[in-house]
Amino acid sequence: MNGLHNIKSLTLDELKTWLKSVGEKPFRAEQIQNWLFRNQVENVEEMVNISPSLQSKMKEAFYIHSLTEELKKESVDGTIKWLFKTYDNHYIETVMIPTNGRFSVCVSTQIGCAMNCSFCRTAKMGFIRNLEAGEILEEIIRVNWHLKKAGILNVENNQAEVTNIIFMGMGEPLNNLENVHRTCCTLHNQKLFNMGRKRMTISTSGVVPKIKELVDRNTPCCLAVSLNSTNNEQRSAVMPVNKTWPIEKLLEATDEYTKRTDNYVTFEFVLIKGTTCTKETAKELIRICAPRRCKVNAIALNDGDDPHLEAPSTEEVDQFLEIVRAANVQITMRNPRGRDILAACGQLAYKQGTAESC
Ligand code: SF4
Repeated sequence: MNGLHNIKSLTLDELKTWLKSVGEKPFRAEQIQNWLFRNQVENVEEMVNISPSLQSKMKEAFYIHSLTEELKKESVDGTIKWLFKTYDNHYIETVMIPTNGRFSVCVSTQIGCAMNCSFCRTAKMGFIRNLEAGEILEEIIRVNWHLKKAGILNVENNQAEVTNIIFMGMGEPLNNLENVHRTCCTLHNQKLFNMGRKRMTISTSGVVPKIKELVDRNTPCCLAVSLNSTNNEQRSAVMPVNKTWPIEKLLEATDEYTKRTDNYVTFEFVLIKGTTCTKETAKELIRICAPRRCKVNAIALNDGDDPHLEAPSTEEVDQFLEIVRAANVQITMRNPRGRDILAACGQLAYKQGTAESC
């Protein structure tokens, strides 16, 4: 944006280096981050303990906001979806899901996505670019602004703050790991967002080398994997990533994740009629999950997302769950949220050149 940088993307050390370069004291970095991420101010002028001359230097070098709100849609179930325009005129979507006084935010990490999963609308946009850490953090801050303006407090600490973050909006988070890692570290920082590791979940389609990198970096987050099928032929048909990293390689990586982090993995599983929601698949899912520390998060396909795929009936879903539960595999059926505003899993996308998100 006119050669300016996103100030929210900088780490504390990067901000200190910049302050030194413009003849300012490095300790101002903590104060500035406090204003950005704790007080979540809307303007530099609100940073009252920052001198007007430093405020001017900041405005010459950085922009504070990089997103503009284009649309906000509210579902009958309280889910809200925002359409944000980026500084370079692209569009991303962010979803807030309220549940019993807690607020989860599903953030986008890329504009579009290159993974081409057949059940996903974002895939149809293609890949445009990675979001910066500052842009991802701004998605969350803007939801906090909404809660604050509406006077809505969470039940956890009685603040107008989101309580959980899910990296499951547009994009493959592990293909943008540097920025996602920076985002998680800022969220986890006790002096800033103070969000516990268990409150942040990165959901991947299965980019195996990046799962290992996530462990090496010790990114403060939980891991969810979109498994969606139990055999390679089926999985490759809906998720092309499986052709590069088949299920065996994926499970090796999640086993290593579990061993090294002592966290369980959540397997996301989309139930599709005649394909993944069958008795045979339920038995294969047991074979995969029973020996592992994991849980399964199942969701029925969004009907109409793909003309070649069909949502299962309630009876088929119930039968699937019964078989899996009988083997003591922990499985929960996720309630689709925000379907009427196309905010549910796999429904996020923006039709470039139109006035509305699709
Ligand atoms: S499901 Fe996720 S990884 Fe797959 S195409 Fe959609 S956004 Fe990308």
